[in-house]
Amino acid sequence: THFGYQEVASDKKAEMVADVFHSVASKYDLMNDVMSFGVHRYWKRFTIECAAARPGMKVLDLAGGTGDLTAKFSHLVGETGEVVLADINDSMLKVGRAKLQDNGVVGNVNYVQANAEALPFPDNHFDIITIAFGLRNVTDKAKALHSMQRVLKPGGKLLVLEFSKPQNELMQKAYDFYSFKIIPNMGAMIAGDKESYLYLSESIRMHPDQETLKNMMLEAGFDQADYVNMTNGVVALHRGYKF
Ligand code: SAM
Repeated sequence: THFGYQEVASDKKAEMVADVFHSVASKYDLMNDVMSFGVHRYWKRFTIECAAARPGMKVLDLAGGTGDLTAKFSHLVGETGEVVLADINDSMLKVGRAKLQDNGVVGNVNYVQANAEALPFPDNHFDIITIAFGLRNVTDKAKALHSMQRVLKPGGKLLVLEFSKPQNELMQKAYDFYSFKIIPNMGAMIAGDKESYLYLSESIRMHPDQETLKNMMLEAGFDQADYVNMTNGVVALHRGYKF
C-alpha cells in the first residue's frame, strides 16, 4: 500500500498514527462533518442511546479525541458520576479539553493521556467504556480489548463504534471510491494533509470485519458480544458484555 501499511513494525505504526493525529487535531471536527456529511453525529447518537448511561455512573471514553461522546456522557452521569476522556495523543486531548471547557462541560470530566493497550485504571472500575473510531488505530487490538475487559465492571458494557464492512457489493465499490479518491483530496484541500487522510482510508480497509471483531471481543474475555450495522455496514456498533 501507499504507506507499506501491512509491513510496518508496530512501533512504526504507533509513530505514524501519532503523526497523523498531531497533524489533523485542529481540523478534526470540521473534517468529520464534511467527510461523513454530518452522519457521524447520528452514529454517535445511536452509541449514546445504546450506552444507557445513568446518573452516578463511571464512563471511560477511550480514544476520545475531541470529546463528542464525553460531552454527552457528562450530562447523563451528572455530578455524582465521572467521565474519563483518555487518548494517547496530547494534541487531540488539548483540542478536546479546550472545546469541552468552552462549552461549559466541566466538573465531572477528567483527561488522561493513555494507551488503550495498557490502561492505567484499576480492575472492574467502569460501568461503560466507549471507543469510537479509535480501535482501528491501535497497534495490538487484542491487547487493547483485554485491557478494556479488565477495567470494565461486571455488569458493564463496552461499545466499539468503528468503520466496518459494507453489506453489499455496490455499497463497497462506492465506498472504496469515496475513501480512496475523494477523502484524501478533501484532506488536502481542507486540512492541507493528503497523506494522513490516505492513512485513515487505508486503516479502514485493514480493520477486521463485523464477525472477526465480534470473535476478538469474545477471545478477549467478554461473556457476550454482538453488533448492529449502520449505514449498510459502513459503520458497526459492537457491544461487549461482562457478566
Ligand atoms: N473518539 C473520537 C471521535 O469519535 O470523534 C476520536 C476518534 S479519532 C478518529 C481516533 C483517536 O484515537 C485519536 O484521537 C487518536 O489519538 C486515538 N488513538 C490512537 N491510538 C490510540 C491508542 N493506542 N490508545 C488510545 N488512543 C489512541
